[in-house]
Amino acid sequence: MIHVTKTFLPPISEYTKQVKRAFDAEWLTNRGSLVLELEQKITHYLGTHHVIVTNNGTTPIQIALRILADQGEVITTPFSYVATTAAILWDRSTPVFVDIHPEYLTIDESKIEAAITKNTKAILVTHVFGNPCNVEEIERIAKKHNLSVIYDAAHCFGVKYKGQSIFNYGDVSTCSFHATKLFHTGEGGAMFTQDDQLRHKLFYSHNFGHDGPENFFGLGINAKISELQAAMGLAVFPYMDKIIEERKIVCNYYDKHLNFDTLQRLKIREHTDWNYSYYPIIFETQEKLLEIQQILKENNIFPRRYFYPSLNRIGYINDDKMSVSENVASCILCLPLYVGLKETELSLICELINSKIC
Ligand SMILES: *Cc1c(COP(=O)(O)O)cnc(C)c1O
Repeated sequence: MIHVTKTFLPPISEYTKQVKRAFDAEWLTNRGSLVLELEQKITHYLGTHHVIVTNNGTTPIQIALRILADQGEVITTPFSYVATTAAILWDRSTPVFVDIHPEYLTIDESKIEAAITKNTKAILVTHVFGNPCNVEEIERIAKKHNLSVIYDAAHCFGVKYKGQSIFNYGDVSTCSFHATKLFHTGEGGAMFTQDDQLRHKLFYSHNFGHDGPENFFGLGINAKISELQAAMGLAVFPYMDKIIEERKIVCNYYDKHLNFDTLQRLKIREHTDWNYSYYPIIFETQEKLLEIQQILKENNIFPRRYFYPSLNRIGYINDDKMSVSENVASCILCLPLYVGLKETELSLICELINSKIC
């Protein structure tokens, strides 16, 4: 069976070597030496400023929203994983959707200002599939209207924009280290910021608000990652260049062998060093997508409809029409993409798709 993705696993001996460090230290959580080392490695590898590694990629969004949105209106994208919108609602803030760009699939920045009201507090948008939003324009709008910017950069490990990590943009960027993501710790995530004061708030918020054992800086929750998860991260880490390189080969194969006469591929923003995190294709109609999904399924190939439905159409939301996002969501399919996908498998996938699209 071929799934949309497959978790990268290092040799188990390399994992147990890291886990043994936690056993030897008899220290399993509360930011032990494995977590600290992982944070150092991430900062060094990506060239970021402050990073706080967390228990998953959703709690950092919630924490950033709690600090920066304060239950106001949050401008957001309808084309992302459900966690983006759910974090806003969970915080009892109000999502205000703005439609997406038809080729980049990130928020259409030209429509943001029309959605701003006196209650708008923040912009929370996704660099979907690792493709950067128009960060310059978003920063300009945010400055002008005194709004905070949070990037859901769950897909962005290793992405650079204009020569630096995409995590260096916005007030806060969050990432997911879930097992299906490019870099992973099983479950895990991170928040990044360049701002010292904000880093302090994010930090204490993710650790119950603690200021030492008996005092508190303020309200906090528990978003700490354990040493056991950090062990997985440290074991995966040495393979990051190889992981990205091998995924690039798969993407290049699709680029070369799929028939794009009627298929649309993702347009990566200029000045981006991409990480090959997903391979979405957009069909002309949903019928075509369903037909191809079916024939792939008959061959034990299971791509995923990332992201469907458009988030404004989720039952508990059912918000205004977002024409571009709804259309893209109904016609987009992410093809299998992972380290170890064989050329014979890729060839079969392309053949099956090409045979049905003309
Ligand atoms: C995976 C993902 C998340 C959530 O990350 P978890 O680590 O699973 O909590 C958030 N946003 C986007 C866009 C994602 O793809």
